[in-house]
Formats: sequence, C-alpha cells, structure tokens
Amino acid sequence: MNGPRDWRAREPRRAGVIRRMLPTALAFAVVVAGLGYLHGDLRELLGTAPGSPRSALATHRVYDTGPVQARCDTLPRDIDADIRVTLRALTGCLDRMWAATLAQADIDYTPPEEVRLVGTPEEAACGIDDYDWAGIYCPGDRVVNVLVEDRRAFPIMFTLAHEYAHHVQEVSGIADQRGPEMFDEAWSRRLELQADCMAAATLRIVEPTRLRDLRRLAGAADGDPGAAGQEEAYRQSHGSGANSARWMARGERAGTVGACNTWAAPAEQVS
Ligand SMILES: [Zn+2]
Repeated sequence: MNGPRDWRAREPRRAGVIRRMLPTALAFAVVVAGLGYLHGDLRELLGTAPGSPRSALATHRVYDTGPVQARCDTLPRDIDADIRVTLRALTGCLDRMWAATLAQADIDYTPPEEVRLVGTPEEAACGIDDYDWAGIYCPGDRVVNVLVEDRRAFPIMFTLAHEYAHHVQEVSGIADQRGPEMFDEAWSRRLELQADCMAAATLRIVEPTRLRDLRRLAGAADGDPGAAGQEEAYRQSHGSGANSARWMARGERAGTVGACNTWAAPAEQVS
C-alpha cells in the first residue's frame, strides 16, 4: 500500500520526450534497474542501506551542526489573533534559523521559492488527490504550501515548520534519491519522522508548552477507531503516532539535526 505523502516526488519526464527517447531509454532502464537491484543488495551487505549508521544519508555533515537557534522575536504576542501574520513572521524566523544552522556545515541555505498560505488544497503549487493534507512541499519548485484553516495557530505553525524541514532536507541533500528502490514507504517514514523531529527542534523555544501538548496528542493518536484505512495509509508513509512523538521529543530535547538522524535508526524506531 502506498500511503499519502506530503513530500511530492519529482514530476515524471514529459510524454513527448519519453517517446523520442524510448528505444535508448528502454535499453538503459534494463541496465539501470539491474544495477539498482544489485546496488541495493550490495548496500545491505556493506551496511550502507538506510538504517545503517554508515549509510551516506546517516553520515551527512549536517548532523555535526550545533543546536538550532530556535528564537522568533518577531512573532506577534497573540499568535491566534491573525494566523497569517503569525505564519509570515515564523517563515522569516525559520529562514534565519536554517541559514545559520546549515552555514555551520558549509551548506548555502536558499529559502523556498515561495511559501503559499492557501485556503483550499487546489491553490497549492502541487498536490496529492485523495489525501487530506495540512501542508505539502513541492521539491521540484521548492514551494512550501500550508493550508490555513480557522483554528488555533500552533498546529498550523508546526505544519509550516515540518514543511520547512522538508525544504532543508532538499537543499542539504538529505532527501537525495540514490535509486528507485529506495523511494518506498520505509524511506518515506524516515523522511517524515525526521521532519517532525526537525520541526520540534525549531519550535522548542518559540512555543515550548504548546509543542509539548501537540507531541502528547500525536503520541496518543494511535489506534484511533474510525477511519482505519486512511489512518493505516498515513501510518505507512509517516510512521506511527508513538514514533512521531518520540522523534519530536528528541528534537525538543537536543534541538540539533543530529538528534533527528532517522536514517541511522533501526527499523522499529521508524515504523
Ligand atoms: Zn512531511
């Protein structure tokens, strides 16, 4: 089962290009697929698959950076008064936090091309049908989309911070796909739980009490009777509520990207 993703895979090549290149592409596809599978086996053997502390994603230099300077002095005093004002202020803070953090690893941070605060999913730069998303990141265009609903600001702030984490995964190269065999549900869960952890790292000083409450809510969300199919699909791609809460707690405590290294974690911590 493929669960919903709020991180959209790159657009496939255009049909016209594919038709022109088909004979060559087919030959290459067979070779590349063969290498891909072999490569996957080799990675397992050599201990460089996701979940191995030696994999390229697990040893990224961004994990050596210090705690994120998680302050946001430009936030309005009442974050619920005008949610869009709150989110715009947080956007500026997240850019500052991630620029300073990535600079420690000699990575040039570039802000997202656009941060869209949308009222309906149709206004987003990219989207996924049949999935009730709160936020979505388009890695190709580097656009962050957040659905602004008439409710408390903090859960929407967390969504913004989570989508920003996807942007950081993209610009730092954490989200690099090294082969088609890696882009599966297990890969998606590592990416999503890492984004939860990084979001918590950025909000831990900004709104500590609300962050703790949200984490407890996430941890209690498993086994919710009712929409079981949708819940299960979400769990497949994003991980369990309990694991989400655990990774959020790590981000809260340490405040570092290094504490959010889901790529080195054993499978049960990213289930
Ligand atoms: Zn996500």
